[in-house]
Amino acid sequence: MNSYKLLTPGPLTTTARVKQEMLRDRCTWDEDYKEITQKIRAQLLDLASVTKDEYTTVLMQGSGTFVVESVLTTTIGQADKVLIVTNGAYGERIVQMARYIRLNYVQYGVDYNAYPKEEEIRAILQQDRQITHIAMVHCETTTGILNPIEMIAKLAKEFGKTLIIDAMSSFGGVEMKVAELGIDYLISSANKCIQGVPGFGFVIAKKEKLSMCEGNARSLSLDLYAQWKVMEKDGKWRYTSPTHVVAAFAKAVEELVKEGGITARSARYQRNNRRLREGLQEVNIHPYIAVEKQSPIITTFLFPNEQFKFEDFYSYVKEKGYVIYPGKLTDVDTFRIGNIGEIYEEDIRQLCTIIADYMKVVAE
Ligand SMILES: *Cc1c(COP(=O)(O)O)cnc(C)c1O
Repeated sequence: MNSYKLLTPGPLTTTARVKQEMLRDRCTWDEDYKEITQKIRAQLLDLASVTKDEYTTVLMQGSGTFVVESVLTTTIGQADKVLIVTNGAYGERIVQMARYIRLNYVQYGVDYNAYPKEEEIRAILQQDRQITHIAMVHCETTTGILNPIEMIAKLAKEFGKTLIIDAMSSFGGVEMKVAELGIDYLISSANKCIQGVPGFGFVIAKKEKLSMCEGNARSLSLDLYAQWKVMEKDGKWRYTSPTHVVAAFAKAVEELVKEGGITARSARYQRNNRRLREGLQEVNIHPYIAVEKQSPIITTFLFPNEQFKFEDFYSYVKEKGYVIYPGKLTDVDTFRIGNIGEIYEEDIRQLCTIIADYMKVVAE
């Protein structure tokens, strides 16, 4: 049994049934197993509300970062240039990847609590005609800000750029009109809002775009095009796949559908998040991100006072059954609480009581 529930942005608390799926060993070339892969790929297209004529799903081994890197290395060629929009550590990680892969790139960064500005991006796109791609994180898990993908998608369309969205921590938990927005590559992973366990990620890719990427990749194992071509045949992964994780993911997708799809899950996360913010407000703990920019996924809170010690707070809360997350900002003292996973309002209510008790204990 779990000794605590995870209030982190993933890996997160999963159901017993998802965990149970991992008790069986499966053969990678067996038909039943390959069918699981094909089913998942089709279900992900349904969840994204896109058609199989226009889009395809490619699964890729590794944590989320591996999958973002596979998109960058495969879809951005030597003659291309990517505009990377950043307001947090995950956006900056994309910049770091661009350096490693030696991509042509330009970074447009804004403060961690601010939205990127449409006029400024427009100006960059007007001036720099070399830009072919735009990459941005949807929910910046660093802070919990939910970035305006409608705005960026509109600009990508207007200027005819290929759009890459890191929707790692939002896909499955936030409704998104992938086809309407014209997102070319949407990236997410098994252990976030789909509520699976870590081990692989996936890309929902526009076929027209991905089919032009043969031979681009500077990495063998991260070649998304080659992975697609092999997987497309019969559902066999190119190299050893995380069989237990894939089986658990299939169960997690089934549970997401049963819950009522992304609409219902998103509503649950929003209720969790609202209750969390309201509950902590009562004990004078305030969020870093303005409410209108706040995602329903994870919230960054400012330390309530100078005496506040995170390690002490963390241990107290863990002892009572919940694990939270440290902050990721360099200039402000913060901590983070995720409200995704197998977490309900009752958990949040309990957590808020635990935190209120802690605040009383330390004030004495
Ligand atoms: C979780 C996450 C990633 C991937 O992180 P990994 O630790 O590699 O799984 C990338 N981008 C965002 C926005 C994330 O939340």
